[in-house]
Amino acid sequence: MKINWLSNNYYLLVFLLILSYSVKGQNNFIPQSKKKCGIPSNGKIQSFRDNQNWGYGYDSLIVDLDRWDSYSFVTIDSIGATVQNRAIWELTISENAEANSNHRIYIHARTHPGEEESFWVTNEIINILISESPFAEFVRSNCIFHIIPMYNPDGVELGYPRENANGIDIESGWDDIPLEPEVAVLKNRFSNLMLSVPNPVKIALNMHSAYSCTRYFVFHDEVGTSENYAILEQQFIGGIQSFFPGGFENWDYFVSWTSGTPDQYPESWWWMNHGENVMALTYEDMNCEQAGLYDSTANAILRGICDYIGLNYINISDENGNHPAGFSLGQNYPNPFNAITLIPYTTIMPGRVTITILDIMGHEVLQLVNSDHNVGKYFVKWDGTNRYKRQVGSGIYFYRIQAGLINKTRKMLLIQ
Ligand SMILES: [Zn+2]
Repeated sequence: MKINWLSNNYYLLVFLLILSYSVKGQNNFIPQSKKKCGIPSNGKIQSFRDNQNWGYGYDSLIVDLDRWDSYSFVTIDSIGATVQNRAIWELTISENAEANSNHRIYIHARTHPGEEESFWVTNEIINILISESPFAEFVRSNCIFHIIPMYNPDGVELGYPRENANGIDIESGWDDIPLEPEVAVLKNRFSNLMLSVPNPVKIALNMHSAYSCTRYFVFHDEVGTSENYAILEQQFIGGIQSFFPGGFENWDYFVSWTSGTPDQYPESWWWMNHGENVMALTYEDMNCEQAGLYDSTANAILRGICDYIGLNYINISDENGNHPAGFSLGQNYPNPFNAITLIPYTTIMPGRVTITILDIMGHEVLQLVNSDHNVGKYFVKWDGTNRYKRQVGSGIYFYRIQAGLINKTRKMLLIQ
C-alpha cells in the first residue's frame, strides 16, 4: 500500500519539493513580517480581484481626476502610457508651478495594485493640499507637488497583486534593458524634472503598504548610501513621526541596503544619480484590517516634508484653526540610542537658544547649542561617543533647552 501510494504520488511529491524550493528562493528566507510590502494571505486577493479592482479602480480615478481638475492650482497631465495603453496620470499641485523658488516634491503610489492603502494615504495628501486651510495655502504657495495616484493602472484593472500587464513587478527592474513601459515613463519624468528645471525634486516618496500591519519608511543603511544621508533619513522620518506620535515605526524598524547599493529600484535610481540631494524613500502603510487614519498619516507626512525642507509654517493654523505648538522641545530620536541621537526643537521668537546635556545628577556634560536663532524648526545632533567633546558612559541623560524665559527638560537613554 505504501509503495503504491508513493508511486501514484511521485510526481506530486516532486512538484511540491520544487514548489517549496522556489517559494523559499523568492522569499530569500526573510520572515513574512519583515518583507518590504505585499498583501495578506487571508482571501483578500480573490475578493478584491473579482469585485473591486482592489477597492479603487481606474474608473474611480478618472472620476476623481475630473474633480481635482476643477481647482485652479491643480494641473493634470498624462506622463505616458502603460502596456495596455492606459494613461499614467500625474497631478501637479501648486499656486505657481513656474516659480523657481518653490520646493518640488514627487509622490507616486500604487506600483503594487494590491496595496491600495498607499492610494488612500496619497488621496488624503491630495485632499489636504486642495483644501482651503491656511496650511494648505501655505504649502501650495511654497511647493510644487507632483503626484501619481495610480502608477500601475493595468495591474489594478487586471487584479494583479504586484505586476503590470506583462506580469512584471515594476517596483524593480529599473536597471533592466529594455525597460518596462511604465518604468521608462517614470524614469524619463524624473530625469526631465532633474535636468530641465532650476528647482529639482527634493523629496521623492514611493507609496506602498505591507502586511506587517505597521506604518514605516524603508530606511537605506549608510552602507548603501552615506553616513550623512543616513542622518538625513533619520531626520526626515523622525520629523514625520513627531506629527503623529505612535503612528509610525522608528527609522530603524526596516533597514535595507545593508550590504551595498542595489540598482533595481526607483530609490536606487535616485541615489545613484542624485545622491544626498534627494530624499527618496519608500513608505509602507498598513496592509491589513486595522489600516486607517489615512488623514493623520497624510497630515504628518506633509508637515514632516515642510520641516525637512525648512519651511517655517508654525504660525500657520491648520484646517481646524489651531496653531501648532509654538516653542517646543521634541523627544530625541532614536531613543534609547547607541551613539548618535537627534534632538528636535522649535522656536517661535528670535533670540538666543542654549541646549545643555546633563547627567543623572544634574551636572552639565556639555553645551550642544548656544547661539542666536531665527524663528523656525531645528535639529541638533549629539554623538555620545564623540571623543573630541566628551565621551560618556551608558545611562540616563537629560537635555535642557533655554530660550528667553522658557526652560524645558527631557530625558534620554544612552546604551553603549
Ligand atoms: Zn509594494
